[in-house]
Amino acid sequence: MTDVYDVIIVGGGPAGLTAAIYCARSGLKTALFEGRQPGGQLNTIVNLENYPGFPEGINGLSLTEKFMEQAAKFGAEVLYQNVDGITKDGGLFAVASGGVDYSGKTVIIATGLSQHLGIPGEEEYLGKGVSYCATCDAPLYRGLDAAIVGGGAYAVEEGLKLASFAKKVYIISTGKSLKISDDLRAAVNKKENITVIYSTKVAKIAGEFSLVTGIKTIDLITKAENEIKVEGVFIYLGKRVPDTKFIDDESIKDSKGYISVGENYMTSTDGLFAVGDVRGSSPKQVATAVGDAATCAIFIKKYLVTKD
Ligand SMILES: Cc1cc2nc3c(=O)[nH]c(=O)nc-3n(C[C@H](O)[C@H](O)[C@H](O)COP(=O)(O)OP(=O)(O)OC[C@H]3O[C@@H](n4cnc5c(N)ncnc54)[C@H](O)[C@@H]3O)c2cc1C
Repeated sequence: MTDVYDVIIVGGGPAGLTAAIYCARSGLKTALFEGRQPGGQLNTIVNLENYPGFPEGINGLSLTEKFMEQAAKFGAEVLYQNVDGITKDGGLFAVASGGVDYSGKTVIIATGLSQHLGIPGEEEYLGKGVSYCATCDAPLYRGLDAAIVGGGAYAVEEGLKLASFAKKVYIISTGKSLKISDDLRAAVNKKENITVIYSTKVAKIAGEFSLVTGIKTIDLITKAENEIKVEGVFIYLGKRVPDTKFIDDESIKDSKGYISVGENYMTSTDGLFAVGDVRGSSPKQVATAVGDAATCAIFIKKYLVTKD
């Protein structure tokens, strides 16, 4: 067990980062765990137009940087590690990460949603060639071939990042064209190592010896099947589901895996909270995730005073 934190926040999207800013600023010993890249879904927003204070809109990555800077300024400790489990023993929580149990008086679950295509091989090869973040993992594919699954602006931007490292990048779009800006299209056309494949879906990810070796594709017009050899598959399509598999206590989840909360975002477990997209009935917006987290953090400060 580690030193006891007042608050452990799981997830570094807009909700988790806001909770970190409020908790650390109010003098609480605060740790935030982020398993992939801080910002979460916010990073996928090219121009966020409905977040107050930015009439011209703001790029999601730029807003993440500001959230991170503010959390660091107030002394929140950020650990770039995935959380594997949360248990409560006596009055304290044990948050398991990287083989260590981190001890907290309270825990905020802010793990949001992540996208899953639901094709064979996706789960099996996760972290072994399958990724959801080229910004995080592109350097691992230096000199290798990789595929981007999806043809939206964010997927294409991720494809451009990947193309700076990979030998060849396939962008596989189910559409007949890419729905992206002219500037982005020009950038793709300039990259000789990017090939765009249209009207095609990825049906399967294949592998050998626990590593991805290729994908099976189906042409949506001709129905022709094809196999493409790649060592990496980056997925930007599919259903968004709450990231709550690491929580064993099913009693705090609803039938879809969202966390159920009551007043002040507390679950039925005393001291365990959930904010942002991961909570049931969240409107799934940046502003509402931020609002949940601020309200919850203010409550936690009062809650700890009465407990201590
Ligand atoms: C394409 C797209 C466009 C959008 N456009 C808009 C828009 O225009 N306006 C708007 O208001 N909202 C928009 N949204 C929604 C908005 O991005 C989300 O509502 C917001 O990001 C939710 O924040 P969150 O912190 O709750 O969750 P997330 O942003 O999902 O962040 C959760 C974080 O938790 C981390 N995590 C998950 N599991 C673990 C674990 N076990 N251990 C450690 N870390 C973990 C993840 O890596 C992630 O960083 C859009 C979303 C998408 C995908």
